Order: sequence, then structure tokens, then C-alpha cells
Amino acid sequence: MSEVSGYCLKCKKYGPIKDGSLIKMSNGRTRMSGTCSMPGCGGKISKIVS
Ligand SMILES: [Zn+2]
Repeated sequence: MSEVSGYCLKCKKYGPIKDGSLIKMSNGRTRMSGTCSMPGCGGKISKIVS
């Protein structure tokens, strides 16, 4: 499984998504949703991957 990075709105840093899961959206695109990998952050990260 390839690592996907996204922008965390909580710590305002760009980093890898932890525990990411792919979510198919109604418009046919795929979104990677997970949490920030920064220790102690736990902010949600969501990124469109295709
Ligand atoms: Zn964060």
C-alpha cells in the first residue's frame, strides 16, 4: 500500500496520512481519509487521490 500525504488543518503541516482509507465519492472520484501522523496531533486529513 502506497503512502499518501495530505495537508493537516490542525497542525498546518503537509505529511503522510495515518490509517488512511479510500472513500469513493458520488462524483466518481476517490478520497483518502485518515488522521495526521504527527505525534499528539490526531487531526483529520482528507485528500483526493484520483
Ligand atoms: Zn496534524
